[in-house]
Amino acid sequence: MPLDLYMTLCLTHPKFGFYMKGEPLGARGAFTTAPEVSQMFGELVGAWCHAAWAAMGSPQKFHWIELGPGRGTLFADALRFACLDPKFIAAAQGWLIEISPVLRDVQLQRLRDTPIPLAWLNDWAAVPTDAPMIVIANEFFDALPIRQAVRKGRGWHERKIGLKDGELKWGLAPDLLSSVLLPDALRDESDNTVVEFAPARETAMRALSQSITSQGGVALIIDYGYQGPRPGDTFQALQAQGFTDPLATPGDADVTAHVDFTSLARAASPLLATQLTGQGDFLRALGLDIRAHALMRHATSKQSADISSAVHRLTHPAAMGDLFKVMAICHETVPPLPGFRV
Ligand code: SAH
Repeated sequence: MPLDLYMTLCLTHPKFGFYMKGEPLGARGAFTTAPEVSQMFGELVGAWCHAAWAAMGSPQKFHWIELGPGRGTLFADALRFACLDPKFIAAAQGWLIEISPVLRDVQLQRLRDTPIPLAWLNDWAAVPTDAPMIVIANEFFDALPIRQAVRKGRGWHERKIGLKDGELKWGLAPDLLSSVLLPDALRDESDNTVVEFAPARETAMRALSQSITSQGGVALIIDYGYQGPRPGDTFQALQAQGFTDPLATPGDADVTAHVDFTSLARAASPLLATQLTGQGDFLRALGLDIRAHALMRHATSKQSADISSAVHRLTHPAAMGDLFKVMAICHETVPPLPGFRV
């Protein structure tokens, strides 16, 4: 089977899928995300959403949408910031797009007493069409499946997964893959180069972009990834907070791949994409240090140490600061957004 089918089954098979059966996130899960590192992350994303709403002309009604909300922590922290402006709260209708029944339950508990109407949706097609939107996606696109091709001689072959002697193994499809599927700049790479492409991610981005094009609004995308085009195999599996062989325990590990932000930006056309920014620079530009100092004023010394260590983890280039990137997509009528260089 091609890699995109393998990833889809590993993550979302109704019975065996990683997101369908257990609790994937948090200290006991496979991995930890930025909102789980510190409340400051979600608060600053909330501040960004508020600034985006103001830049959109403070519409009296807007849809505030999160894709793949995990444990609901980001949305809860963003809401806490948003409560500082009753007009923003009065205008917001919240929507959470979540595939995992387990995480939906966690989100329901976490977001039981929100000051805004909040509902869950299965996919983008169900998002209402009557108002502009502000969309947040943290570590969502990396979970959407990719495909891979390998250069052999004069052409490209798709990388596939099959069974050999009862074990899952990598192989190559014998027939040639049409190179139009690959990023143009990578079609002439040398023998044995692996190139990734992700039609499912581009389809998701196109749907989002069509809605924003017709309804107005912005989207904030945060994920581990790179400015494409770039060759290489980034397919990975995480289990119990560590890397593992992605073919070893299908359905028991989180399988993802880095995000090619350039392809995503292209799929968002005709919307504008901001420059790609490192998560560290983005959070600092939004006032992470000021927020950290404010929290420390009322903290014990142990709590202060935790806050410093969270700032380090979120921003340091050797931690999440550089690998994680931020890009916003916006309607051409929206003026420059905070956190990004213009
Ligand atoms: N944003 C959260 C969680 C990231 S993990 C955080 O930062 O903590 C990825 C999230 O996307 C999970 O909530 C997962 O269940 C959800 N998800 C993965 N694939 C999805 C899909 N195809 N449709 C909707 N949600 C999906």
